[in-house]
Amino acid sequence: MSTNKPVHAAMDQFQCAGAELVVGGVPLGRLVQRVGSTPFYAYDRALLTARVAELRAHLPQAVRLHFSVKANPMAAVVQHMAGLVDGLDVASAGELKTALDTGFDPAHISFAGPGKTAAELSRAIAAGVTINVESDHEIEQVARLADAAGIAPRVVVRVNPDFELKGSGMRMGGGAKPFGIDCEAVPASLARLDALGIALHGFHIFSGSQSLKADAIAECHAKSFELALRLAGHARQAVPAFYFGAGLGIPYFPGEQRLDLAPIGANLHDWMARMAREMPGTRVSLESGRYLVGEAGVYVARVLDRKVSRGQVFLVTDGGLHHHLAASGNFGQVIRKNYPVAIGNRMDAGERESVTVTGPLCTPLDVLAERMELARAEVGDLVVVFQSGAYGLSASPTAFLGHPMPQEVLV
Ligand SMILES: *Cc1c(COP(=O)(O)O)cnc(C)c1O
Repeated sequence: MSTNKPVHAAMDQFQCAGAELVVGGVPLGRLVQRVGSTPFYAYDRALLTARVAELRAHLPQAVRLHFSVKANPMAAVVQHMAGLVDGLDVASAGELKTALDTGFDPAHISFAGPGKTAAELSRAIAAGVTINVESDHEIEQVARLADAAGIAPRVVVRVNPDFELKGSGMRMGGGAKPFGIDCEAVPASLARLDALGIALHGFHIFSGSQSLKADAIAECHAKSFELALRLAGHARQAVPAFYFGAGLGIPYFPGEQRLDLAPIGANLHDWMARMAREMPGTRVSLESGRYLVGEAGVYVARVLDRKVSRGQVFLVTDGGLHHHLAASGNFGQVIRKNYPVAIGNRMDAGERESVTVTGPLCTPLDVLAERMELARAEVGDLVVVFQSGAYGLSASPTAFLGHPMPQEVLV
């Protein structure tokens, strides 16, 4: 099989065989036949494995790596990741079930997220997973439910820090937030836990998502460690666990570069040396979702129509925002930009043209690529959207317009 590299920088995770993109070792045409229908998501198992290894190579040995299931909750993906990481983070009872089904040790599954219901908390307590409490009300609920069940809960206090991850796509800490307990209120919450007879299992500080600025991430990590040390001073006993995470992003748009892990890793080596002195015995875990799975996935749709409207070529496909909201630009983007897209069965084409790729939905929002230079495509060709392994299908309005669900395969 002769291989060559695709042209776009953000596609360089994948090889080609002649005109065809190769996913998980399978040329695209054959993969389409195997899946049986378009559109679908395909995740490359080897790329997932390689990405975890790459991140670990930069982390101090003592930093444990946790996969955030919400980035890609497909059961087979979570099962694969479970074999590679030290913990799983979930954000709903549904994700909790997926995580438990992998056979993972419940002690290393943590459940975060605002507004957990009594039913969810009760399931988490029974499962024996770590519960990241996000408010004093939640502390009271956990105490009551745990007491009724006669089970000692594992409670981690999620902290809303007094700093932000600068320049990140989505901020989840700093200022007024629905996530976690404001750091200045944490000492009072610790006293409340004490009064309720609940042992503190640890602190959790997660500040934001999708940053490509290594310095900003390292600074945010440093501030998170500082805050953890400060808060540990208010705890009555040694703190068994510290969960942190911020921001490891992936490049989506033209001009964006892959994150430089070296300064992030170096900073963590310094901090772990300090932690060994000042918080010995505390297990430190880094949470990451998008970075681990985002680049390993593609979304594949078939061209149903090729039409020209007032000089502009449109490729109308069977896939769209109902399956891939993020690629349409409607999931947290301020200005719409194109995800990396290619014609997956014409990777070696010489003839290129400017096209707009749409889905089948009757809304102008249903755009997968706008005025993009792609290989000249015909009806039946395959449009591939890269960087689709995270926040794809599960972050999309699949019921909108009543089209069938796409398949997902791990290859
Ligand atoms: C969403 C989330 C993550 C994962 O964020 P990524 O940007 O995908 O790495 C980790 N921890 C918590 C608490 C989250 O809410």
